[in-house]
Amino acid sequence: MSASVIFTTGYSDLGKYQADDVTTRYINRWHIEKAAPSLKESPVKNPLIFYVEHTTPIRYRRWVREGVMMWNKAFENIGLLNAIEVRYQDAATQAHMEKNPEDVRYNFIRWLNNNVGTAIGPSRANPMTGQILDADIILTDGWIRHFWRKFNEELPKLAMEGFSPETHAWLKNNPQWDPRVRLAHPSNRAMVANEIAHGHDLAFGGHPLAHSDPTMIGDDEFDGLVGRTSQVNGFCQAADFRSLDMAVMRFAFDLMQMRDDTAEEEGEGNDETPKKEQEKEDLLDGIPDWFVGPLIADLVAHEVGHTLGLRHNFKASSIYTLEEINSEEIKGNKPFAGSVMDYLPVNMHLEGFGEEQGDYGMIEVGPYDMWAIEYGYSTVKKESDLKPVLARVNEPQLAYATDEDTYGPDPFARRYDFAKDPINYARSQMKLAKDHRVSILDKFVKDGQSWAKARYGYGLTLSLQTRSLSMMGNWLGGAFINRSKKGDPNAGPPITVVGAGKQREALRFVIKNSFDDKAFGLTPELLRHMSTDKWMDDFRSAIQDSTWPIHDRIMGIQASSLTMLMNPTTMGRVYDNEFLTPEDEDMITLPEILAEIRDSIWSELEDFEDGKFTARRPMISSLRRNLQREHLERLIDLSMGDSYSSASYKPISNLVTSQLRKLKNKIDGTLKDSDLNPDPYSAAHLSEASVRIEKALDADYIYNTSDIGGGGGAIRFIMEEEGKRLK
Ligand SMILES: [Zn+2]
Repeated sequence: MSASVIFTTGYSDLGKYQADDVTTRYINRWHIEKAAPSLKESPVKNPLIFYVEHTTPIRYRRWVREGVMMWNKAFENIGLLNAIEVRYQDAATQAHMEKNPEDVRYNFIRWLNNNVGTAIGPSRANPMTGQILDADIILTDGWIRHFWRKFNEELPKLAMEGFSPETHAWLKNNPQWDPRVRLAHPSNRAMVANEIAHGHDLAFGGHPLAHSDPTMIGDDEFDGLVGRTSQVNGFCQAADFRSLDMAVMRFAFDLMQMRDDTAEEEGEGNDETPKKEQEKEDLLDGIPDWFVGPLIADLVAHEVGHTLGLRHNFKASSIYTLEEINSEEIKGNKPFAGSVMDYLPVNMHLEGFGEEQGDYGMIEVGPYDMWAIEYGYSTVKKESDLKPVLARVNEPQLAYATDEDTYGPDPFARRYDFAKDPINYARSQMKLAKDHRVSILDKFVKDGQSWAKARYGYGLTLSLQTRSLSMMGNWLGGAFINRSKKGDPNAGPPITVVGAGKQREALRFVIKNSFDDKAFGLTPELLRHMSTDKWMDDFRSAIQDSTWPIHDRIMGIQASSLTMLMNPTTMGRVYDNEFLTPEDEDMITLPEILAEIRDSIWSELEDFEDGKFTARRPMISSLRRNLQREHLERLIDLSMGDSYSSASYKPISNLVTSQLRKLKNKIDGTLKDSDLNPDPYSAAHLSEASVRIEKALDADYIYNTSDIGGGGGAIRFIMEEEGKRLK
């Protein structure tokens, strides 16, 4: 067993730290020593001091302090008392005003007031010893209120979460299936596609990791990670996506407020609970103090964790079930995740909606954090003294996975997911989205407010939906990974394939919540109110159409789901998992997945009411016709294969070709059904689909028989000649 179990790979010589004890540990760390070394517990002689910049609003300062001080518990655990101290810089009293936050001698928590929603915790370490010399945390407060500005930027990011370098490279050749393109404003698509195409000149398909800057604090998510023991630099996104949760909570508070007002009007206001009284009194930026305060503390604790030498731990969210998290046993008593170093969503169970509500954020550092500090900062004489600490590596509460695991097969190595069963969590998020949708017109938009708020409210629910769908990405074809070495206590194999049942559950969740019209909750009434405000001083609003582009947006989400299910990495993993699983054990297979997707997308061919279809009341809805067309295009492309594609594409190509034949038979059979009188839309759509399949099968045949060196030139020529499909 080795320290890298905890702190991952990198250049271990950077982790050397020499002070009174000369042990080598795989971490950058501060020089913190007991004032009285002989004592089991002693105050430290050189505490780590953080100054809270005077720009921090007074109402938030105590919460910033609380986030820093959370870590003292982890140091107390190893006998280092009061290891961290906080001092307030204050303009009114001039306290510490002579200290410049840029001065390397002082560690500052800086507070910037702007519309950026980020928080970072960079530090400077001696490269020879790994001793951390200076750290500054920079918080911006935009995440508390700015989600609307970033909505259009975040949606594609949510949909791309967890995609592998291979998938990034594949999307280069298939920009029409790239969520970043499909979810962009139509007028921006060519530009986005161009940018992506340029990015693919870089290694690994232009995956963000491949063009990260290892030396600087950059703007990209993996900057400053390469070659580092600790997360000393880099762009931390812990605050970034919290803005979505924050916006949803504002929505929820609006609804709760509405309900309370109604109750008061009806004369039921006298028995209000003390908590509701408090809600009205202590609003911070329009949000109750008891809600936003602990979230600031939780975020600060995360960033301070980076400055103590810790990296992200994206498995930490998975140690308890949703029921446990929202139970009396855990609420207020212990942290609901293994670490504050995860990107934890705000735990929204919403008691206002009849559910038990646990803590919204982490109330203290988690068991993994305690363990990591014990490893990094324990006073020991020799390295072997750390063995008992390392021996705990397989305790479930200490599960660990970091940035470079997020695009691998482990579904728990995931940012923004939650609880031991993330599929269950995704369901609860979908429920939240649906519950909120029905209240948009009545309750969310208030008298005197612009109807643009209806579009904003719907956008929030669509973001929740996209995030829930995206959480399922790595369950299909997934495998749980652990870093145990041979002989570690309680170590299982390093790779465990995700059970067939869980994979099916994830697949069905995606199908149900992205391919079914009902999943989007759109009604003519709602759509007629989803307008926009146009202000020339906010260009992004001015460029929006006043009517919401229904088909384009829904197709964008559906195309992203199809990309998530039918990309080469996911399909390759499914194919490999079949091999990894003993024959007598159940495992999901490529034919099963392809058939399930096809049957759900073309279900109208199986189950339709005879007759009486009109263009106004079509056999297949407009959204579903689009989806079917999209699916068909992907099947045709998959049936072609190409010489660069991965090994799993060869069987896929065969399977898909036979699927296309079956689909054509079914479509032709439906069209010949004498009882059926399809409407003009559905009739044209189905006949066209049949012709396209026929051409594709012919083209594929010619292509495959003449294909020697590979390359898609022949097929493209044929398709273009037919004028059917221009790349
Ligand atoms: Zn972070």
